[in-house]
Amino acid sequence: MKKFFYLFLTIIIAVFSCVSFTGCKKSEIDKISKNLTTYAISVELNDDMMISGAETIDYVNDTGADLEFLCLHLYPRAFRKDASIKPYTALNMATCFPNGVSYGDLEVKSVSVDGEKKEFLYAGEDEDILKIIFGFVLKNEHRAKIEIGFDLTIPNSTHRFGYFENNINLGNFYPVVCNFENGEFDLTPYYSTGDPFCSKIANYEVNFVYSKLFKLFSTGEISTEEKDGKFCSTISAKAVRDFAMCLTSKSAEKEEMVGQTKVVYAGYETDENISACLEVAKDSLSYFNSAFGKYPYSTLTVVKTPFLFGGMEYPGIVFIADSIKDETEFKKVIVHEIAHQWWYSVVGNNETKEAWLDESLAEYSTALFFGDNEKYGVSYDEMVQSALDSYLLYVDVISTIRGDVNTKMNLAVFEYKNDYEYSYMVYVKGVIMFDSLKDAVGKQKILAGLKKYYKDNKFKIATKSDFYKAFESACHKDLENFFEGYLNGTAIISKIS
Ligand SMILES: [Zn+2]
Repeated sequence: MKKFFYLFLTIIIAVFSCVSFTGCKKSEIDKISKNLTTYAISVELNDDMMISGAETIDYVNDTGADLEFLCLHLYPRAFRKDASIKPYTALNMATCFPNGVSYGDLEVKSVSVDGEKKEFLYAGEDEDILKIIFGFVLKNEHRAKIEIGFDLTIPNSTHRFGYFENNINLGNFYPVVCNFENGEFDLTPYYSTGDPFCSKIANYEVNFVYSKLFKLFSTGEISTEEKDGKFCSTISAKAVRDFAMCLTSKSAEKEEMVGQTKVVYAGYETDENISACLEVAKDSLSYFNSAFGKYPYSTLTVVKTPFLFGGMEYPGIVFIADSIKDETEFKKVIVHEIAHQWWYSVVGNNETKEAWLDESLAEYSTALFFGDNEKYGVSYDEMVQSALDSYLLYVDVISTIRGDVNTKMNLAVFEYKNDYEYSYMVYVKGVIMFDSLKDAVGKQKILAGLKKYYKDNKFKIATKSDFYKAFESACHKDLENFFEGYLNGTAIISKIS
């Protein structure tokens, strides 16, 4: 995700040419998608902003353990009236609900396992987890067919899950299996800070019925037909970490190919910058393909939509906030969110516990992109200097007011006192950290480290150990102390870096 930061100024630095890549995408995805869990989701949007849904999960127990029950996140339940952990704060309520507070929900109607009806319960710290007790032991590497009937209420909101003006954002809307780590399911609730998600790659086959007033953009490949006066879209997405959609009623879009990937930019009918936004999306994809390794999917969609933060990444689709009026800032958010296709999407990480691992990389990748694409008039050096200046100012102000200041990058998202602290430590300090490493080892080794991290961790959930391993191998030196100094807040950061 990209918070609103208007921190960075613009100038020009280096030159690079963007290279389009072609390659054998299908075979890689086809190979990876075999033996993954598959979600078959059937949803219909009603006129009153309700969705009735059915989800059949061909679940593959790849936890390494024998299971007696399964846990799934029900993120829309965080929008219900009596939720105690909410995905928004008092400070951003007005942006989140421009028309006044509105509630959403996900109500589970039925559950069956291998054709047999099962009891289920709402579990977790805030009853936002669906716990299904099998009544038998699902052995490791065995499969079960889980069927869930549910109703969704979409809030009138600019959040990841919400409708506002002409758009409906459908992020984190369906029951999704909790990640299993250290012998248990990760039941992390929907915190307001950061993107508190972590999921394994899976296959998705989605059927969506909706009013002909809308156009649909989503993860994966869409085919749409008209049926009984409505649109009926079938969407297929293989080996993706999550699945999201956005419905728009007054959008205008353009698309072009970059190698074997169709890149789509969907703005608003009245926009005059559709081609320019498509261009930055295409350039980002080309640049990151070349710098980090090839994007493996056949589509990439950038959709402008009402959104309370700057932007949000999902596999194959990113949301960009329509409230960003500054053209350069809008482009920076497009680049940042597209960088997440490498850091978060293809290479996953636990975004609750190690948010820096994808956010720092996405933010630093943005600086690399602009540094090497001089036509955008944004300077790498100025982005880094701006990060350094604003970081030092933040540290100075907060330590003066509070007497001390947290400078740790490695806290879990819910451990940061507020969004500002989170953003400065995870985004801004991340840029400073990587630039400092660049000073020490050179840009080519940074790029080699990122390539290696991508190659070695594609489609997996990486940790900082995997990250250290890739960089140490690329730089031929022990970097643990360097990174740990930044992460645990002991590295000295000063004007003279
Ligand atoms: Zn981000």
